[in-house]
Amino acid sequence: MFNAIKERLERAAAIVGVHPDVMEVLRWPKETLAVSLPVRMDDGSIRPLKAFRCRHSEVRGPTKGGIRFHPSVNIDEMMALAFWMTMKTAVVDLPYGGAKGGVAVDTKALSPTELERVSRAYVRAFAEMIDEHRDIPAPDMYTGGIVIAWMTEEIATLKRRPMPAAITGKPLQLGGSLGRDTATGDGAFICLEALRERLGLGDGATVAIQGYGNAARVFAERAAAAGLKVIAVSDSSGAAHDPAGLDLAALGRHKDETGTVGSFTGDLDPDDLLTTKCDLLVPAALDGVIDAAVACELQCRTILEIANGPVTADADSILVERGIEAVPDILANAGGVAVSYLEWVQNKTGDYWPADEIERRLSQRMQASTEAVLAKAETYDTNLRNAAYILALGRLCDAISATGTQTYYNGES
Ligand code: NAD
Repeated sequence: MFNAIKERLERAAAIVGVHPDVMEVLRWPKETLAVSLPVRMDDGSIRPLKAFRCRHSEVRGPTKGGIRFHPSVNIDEMMALAFWMTMKTAVVDLPYGGAKGGVAVDTKALSPTELERVSRAYVRAFAEMIDEHRDIPAPDMYTGGIVIAWMTEEIATLKRRPMPAAITGKPLQLGGSLGRDTATGDGAFICLEALRERLGLGDGATVAIQGYGNAARVFAERAAAAGLKVIAVSDSSGAAHDPAGLDLAALGRHKDETGTVGSFTGDLDPDDLLTTKCDLLVPAALDGVIDAAVACELQCRTILEIANGPVTADADSILVERGIEAVPDILANAGGVAVSYLEWVQNKTGDYWPADEIERRLSQRMQASTEAVLAKAETYDTNLRNAAYILALGRLCDAISATGTQTYYNGES
């Protein structure tokens, strides 16, 4: 996974001609720690769980990235996701580098007290790293809500003082930010609005969404209000389809009551969602779902990547050949980390902002970043994915070069 992601960086570097020294710095994470967390289960037994934290790069600031609890967590995935965070924070010009952490555990098989012990044990194991000036974790898969509350309390206990800025995505009562819950969906919408002309998505353009969860729902409602027509959605248990456009208010109530969009309307098999005919396809669930084989079957004109890494690197060239433009994850889903940054700033200053101020700052950053990606796409006559990597690479390159380049040390002009 890590190698596949690096391929995209190499592609962008080949377009702009980056000095090999810079690539050497970015090719390998700065620091990766793998530990065994011995956690006491409710039956008295001890389970040694594998846990990781990877800090990819801190050349632009302290590292930032979520902690996920999932059985498939492994060191390669952590390195890949940390690298992604370095790129994402650079694309939206946040003063951060990238990190990622996780525990290989199935939270559904844990009691609440076991989950609390895992969460607190994680913070104890990585307490040397976690700090508002060094490494700032956030929620990821299965670590929302109370897990982050336990982690925030644990780091304060260990460091003997409240440290709200050391972890973001906190509940509001513990120093969280307004607007964090909707930030990823909001950010994806703002980004799309700035690209609609280039992408040719006029009023009535049709949208299909895989993974009708938190981010997708926010995005869908804003997209529909702006004139797009959401015709198909899916989640892990089912799908809904209406070529005339789904009634999103009724769909939302159905999902809240039944826990799924399945059986709402239409007879779409969730496995067929990605290849549904539509103008805009929004993968918002899992990584790697659009591989080379799926890319050949797509019937959309554009992809907006709300999920992290929904398109595999080997599918990129097929999309290019087929004229399908992908708005890359490192831009499209950066609204979440952008508002995490606002949370961090509020925690550090003690000045807390109302929702409209968060919305204003998020809009400004997402619009500016999208325009900067567009400008790179035009300058280098390339697609949006390459353009986003070129933008990130340029900012990283500037930071790495600021302490001297080979040219400087050789005394050349
Ligand atoms: P979520 O858990 O609220 O929603 C995910 C949805 O995907 C759920 O409805 C789930 O049922 C569905 N799903 C799972 N497997 C599926 C499958 N095989 N087919 C169809 N649907 C499936 O999560 P979220 O916060 O909305 O995040 C969605 C995606 O966006 C994830 O990939 C996440 O990594 C990415 N992301 C989220 C944030 C954030 O701040 N929330 C930030 C950046 C990226």
